[in-house]
Amino acid sequence: MPEIYGIPLDTAIPDDLTIPQFFLDSHHPRRPVRTDAPWLIEDETGRHIGFEEIRARTFGFANGLSLRYGIKEEEVVLIFSPNHVDYAPAIWATHRLGGIVSTANPSYTVGELLYQIQVVKATLIIAHSSSLQTALDAALAAGIPSDRVIAFGESSCQPTVESIIQFGLRNELAFVERRLKKGEAKTKVALLCFSSGTTGKPKAVTIAHYAPIVNIIQMAQQIKVNENYAPWKEQRFRLGDIAAGVLPFYHIYALVVCIHLMTFCGMPLVVIPKFNFTDFLKSIERYRVTHLILVPPQIVLLCKHPAVKDYDLSGIRYLISGAAPLSAELVHQLTKVMPNAQIGQGYGLTESCTSISLYPTSQKIGVPGSAGQLNPGVVARVVKSDGSLAGYNEPGELRVKSPSLALGYWDNEPATRETFVNGWLCTGDEVIIREDNEIFIVDRLKEIMKVRGFQVAPAELEGCILDHPDVADTCVVPVPDDYSGEVPLAFVVLHVSAATRVEKDPREADKVKASIMKHVTDNKIAYKCLAGGVEFIDVIPKNPSGKLLRRLLRDRARQLKAPG
Ligand code: AMP
Repeated sequence: MPEIYGIPLDTAIPDDLTIPQFFLDSHHPRRPVRTDAPWLIEDETGRHIGFEEIRARTFGFANGLSLRYGIKEEEVVLIFSPNHVDYAPAIWATHRLGGIVSTANPSYTVGELLYQIQVVKATLIIAHSSSLQTALDAALAAGIPSDRVIAFGESSCQPTVESIIQFGLRNELAFVERRLKKGEAKTKVALLCFSSGTTGKPKAVTIAHYAPIVNIIQMAQQIKVNENYAPWKEQRFRLGDIAAGVLPFYHIYALVVCIHLMTFCGMPLVVIPKFNFTDFLKSIERYRVTHLILVPPQIVLLCKHPAVKDYDLSGIRYLISGAAPLSAELVHQLTKVMPNAQIGQGYGLTESCTSISLYPTSQKIGVPGSAGQLNPGVVARVVKSDGSLAGYNEPGELRVKSPSLALGYWDNEPATRETFVNGWLCTGDEVIIREDNEIFIVDRLKEIMKVRGFQVAPAELEGCILDHPDVADTCVVPVPDDYSGEVPLAFVVLHVSAATRVEKDPREADKVKASIMKHVTDNKIAYKCLAGGVEFIDVIPKNPSGKLLRRLLRDRARQLKAPG
C-alpha cells in the first residue's frame, strides 16, 4: 500500500492569527454566521454567556493579567481546574498577551502538579477554589509567590479570576495585543499539553496557534458545517444544536473538540465541571443536548447503567467517541439505546493536536470498530516492523503528516527527534487500513496505557514504586478491564530483606502488595492506582542493553488475568 491521503483541504487556513483572534475576532467561510444564541451554558446554574460577554471577559482578563502581573511574551500560565465557563477566556486572554498556556489535570497530587510546573516553568497558576491548597503547596515548592495563584470561583485568601476581570474592565486597555507576522502562527507556541509520547515520563507537547485552528477546519470540512456545503439536514453540526462539555478541558480532545469546534460551529456548550453519570443524564435532558463527545467508559455506562431508561435521550442526534478504543459490540449496543443518533469514532493524539481521523458524514453509524477515515490534508503510512510499508489489511505502525501536528516536546530535543521524524509523527499505534480507507487501531506499540481515556506512563509509576523500601526492581504493564479499557499492574522484584520476610511467612506477601499499592495511591491521582494488582517476580526480563522487555511481561499479565 502506498501512502494514503485524506481529501485535500479546500479552504485557506489563516497563518497570521492567534487562537483568540481566529475564534473571537475574525470570520471564516466554514463558519456559520453568528447568532445571539449563548456560547457557553454553566451547568449548575443554567447561566447563559453570549459571545460579546465572553469577548469582553477575555479582554478584561488580559488587561488585568497585564496590569497586575505583567504577563508577557512566552510566559507560561498554568490552568489547574475542572471545567469552568472562564476556562476558555483565561486561555485566550493569555494568548492575547503573547503568553503560553499549560493545562493540568485538576485532581493531580502536589507532586504531579509540581512536576508539570517545573517542566513548563510556569510563573502563574489559575486554580479552581476546590484545588487551591494543592496549587498553593506546589507553587510554594516551585518558588512561585502565593499571590500568583489565582482562583476560579470564590476565595477568601487568593485573588480571583473574577476580581481580575473586573479590575481589567474598569481600567483603560493597557496592553498591546500580540499580533503575528504572516506564517508566524505555525511556530508561535500557544499550548503545552501533557503526553508521554512513545516512552518515558509525561512530556509537554509544544502546540502552535496554527495547530488547533487547522484541526477545527479539517473537522469542519469533513463534517460539512458550512450551509452551502451540504444540505441543512445532512450537516452534523448545526446552529441550534447543543453540545455537552463533560470531557475535561485540560486534555487536548476536549480543548479542541468541545471548546473550539463546537463554538466555531455556533453551538452552545454546556460546561459540566465533573462527570457524575446520573447528573450528566439530568443535564442532557434539562438542556436538550443534541451532541455528545465522549470516551468509551462513558459509553459503557450509557449501554449498561439502569438509570438510562429514566431519562429522555431522544434528542441526541450525534455522538462521537475518542481517546481509546470503542469495540464493535458497544457500538451495536449503543445504536439500540440511541436509535436516532449518528454514532462513530475519532482518533488522534495530543501530538497531532487531536483529530487525525473521523467517521465520515456519509455514514450514519461509523463502521463498528473503525476509528474512521483520514481528515482532509492528512497523509498516512503504515510501517511494518522491518521498516517496509504495509499493504492494505496488513498491520504496522501508523505514521502521519498533518498541518495540525505539534512542534515537538518542550525543551526535550531527544524525545522530539524520536517521535517527529522528517515531518512524520510516529504514533506508536499499530493499525490496519482497509481498501475502503477505514482505519482500525489494533494494538499499541508504545508504552503508555489508557485508563478511562487518561494516559498512564509506566515509567512514571515505576519511578514511584521504586521509592517503596521493599522494592528492588519493577515493570508496570496494562491489563484489560471491561470499564476502564485497561488498568496498570506492577511486576515487582523484592529487596532481599522483604523477600526473606515473605518466604518465612506467606501472609507477609499480601501485606507487602497492599503497602506497594497504597504507596502509589498516596502519591498519584486515582486513575493511576495499581487496579491490576502487584505480582512478585524473581527478575525483570531485560535485553542485553538493559531495556525492559515489556511485551513479554504484558503477555504474561494478560494470561494471569485471563478469565477462567
Ligand atoms: P492522547 O495523547 O492522550 O490523546 O492519547 C493518544 C492515544 O490514545 C493514541 O496514540 C491511541 O493510542 C489512543 N487513542 C486515541 N483515540 C483512539 C481510538 N479511537 N481508538 C483507539 N485508541 C485511540
